[in-house]
Amino acid sequence: MRVLAIGAHPDDVEFQIGGTLAKYSKQGSEIYIAVATNGNIGSFRMSKEEIAEVRHKEARKAADLIGAHLIWMNFEDEFLIDTPKSRLKFIDTVRIAKPDIVFAHEPYNDYNPDHDMVGYLAFIARINAAIKLIETDNPPIQKVPALFYYSTLTFGNFIPEYYVDITDAFELKKKMFLCHDSQQGDWCKDAFGVKYLDMLESQARLAASQAGTPGCEYAEVLKLCKSWPTIAGAYKLLP
Ligand SMILES: [Zn+2]
Repeated sequence: MRVLAIGAHPDDVEFQIGGTLAKYSKQGSEIYIAVATNGNIGSFRMSKEEIAEVRHKEARKAADLIGAHLIWMNFEDEFLIDTPKSRLKFIDTVRIAKPDIVFAHEPYNDYNPDHDMVGYLAFIARINAAIKLIETDNPPIQKVPALFYYSTLTFGNFIPEYYVDITDAFELKKKMFLCHDSQQGDWCKDAFGVKYLDMLESQARLAASQAGTPGCEYAEVLKLCKSWPTIAGAYKLLP
């Protein structure tokens, strides 16, 4: 299996789909984590350049924990917009990963504009990556991958369709998430009063309660992109 997870900011993928990726990793899948923006407004103490560099290192550390490739797309945090450049970058990202399955934010259903835009650009790229006359650094893919959308924070506006039992991968998910050290202190807790790790844990527990499967203590939730081409039996690609 080849897996591509795209997040708007460093730590989004770990928070929403880290357990699923850890499970794929244990199964020996080839995993790509693409981070669209460089997180360069995620600090009240550091300069834009400093925090972007810190967050790049944190993202690499998290990806290393599951042996994933990191694609650092380096767009400006909070200013990811739909342009020819951003479309081509997303298309090339899909071509690098050659995925069977793609995970992304759901388009236009989230609290953050970069999240919404990642969903939209991923939706465009999964098909356009197969089109020969759209040229990027890498050759077109041969088959269109399945696209799943992962949850919003605390399920806001999100009605889950599929549940992945991550009970055996939860500790690794937490470790991946905690690699993003710069976001645990001044940013989330001091600025917004958010205890990010508590939120991660309670969300995974709530997902498991919804799943209702005996022995499932932690879960992650997904929705399938239903636009053509719907990949038959796409849910079977989930770990
Ligand atoms: Zn984010």
